[in-house]
Amino acid sequence: MVKGTLFIVSAPSGAGKTSLVAALLEARPDLVVSISHTTRAPRQGEVDGVHYHFVNAERFLGMIEDNAFLEHARVFDHYYGTSRAAVEAELNQGRDVILEIDWQGAQQVRRQLSDSQSIFIIPPTRDALRTRLQARGKDSSAVIERRMQDAVKEMTHYVEYDYLVVNDRFEEALADLQAIFVANRLRMWPQHHSKRALLSELLASRPLNP
Ligand code: GDP
Ligand code: ADP
Ligand code: 5GP
Repeated sequence: MVKGTLFIVSAPSGAGKTSLVAALLEARPDLVVSISHTTRAPRQGEVDGVHYHFVNAERFLGMIEDNAFLEHARVFDHYYGTSRAAVEAELNQGRDVILEIDWQGAQQVRRQLSDSQSIFIIPPTRDALRTRLQARGKDSSAVIERRMQDAVKEMTHYVEYDYLVVNDRFEEALADLQAIFVANRLRMWPQHHSKRALLSELLASRPLNP
């Protein structure tokens, strides 16, 4: 079986990464999104094991010692990390896996999995970013200011990614993302395996049926 592809999606907080990935999963249920571990507190409506695995710092540091993370980073004064075992299990089943992680995590993953694909999402304007952080209504104004400051730092890393998507009109950005995933599946090596039956029939030495 051909292994799945690991996709990294990064964006400044509020650019729409979580909403776009959720919409992508609805359209393509064969994709899997990795559920990160984090030491930050759950936002209203966030469920442990669904949005994140919420853990305390002690448990997180223990997991680092056990080499349980494919990557981990400190973002906005909290720890975030991706479980190595969960991701590898899905990739080995041939499924494409999405990581919603920051630029530090993206660098760590690229070093280990050179055939991963990475996508950077940006907002159409700086004002739109602030408006979206406010509209989400889940963070205090102090947290929003902190995230706006860090947004610029995150965006300076855009050029390290394979693809750049502007999330202006949501449906257009979603279509752009879908195009990236579809094109990846159409590459020769995965097609060579998944279309094996068709190819062997087309290439059989007997004449084609009239
Ligand atoms: P949101 O992006 O505004 O919804 O905020 P989150 O609290 O969900 O994420 C905060 C930051 O942590 C973002 O920059 C994410 O990309 C990053 N992040 C989330 N999960 C992971 C992870 O598993 N690993 C790494 N390295 N970063 C993560
Ligand atoms: P992130 O995960 O990158 O922090 P979210 O997906 O939580 O971002 O989006 C932040 C806010 O912006 C949410 O309230 C979301 O509904 C809104 N949003 C996302 N994409 C768009 C868009 N294209 N136009 C307007 N609002 C958007
Ligand atoms: P939030 O706290 O708003 O959910 O996430 C803030 C940032 O943390 C986002 O930019 C998100 O990409 C990043 N993030 C979430 N999970 C992980 C993770 O597992 N690893 C890394 N490196 N970053 C993460």
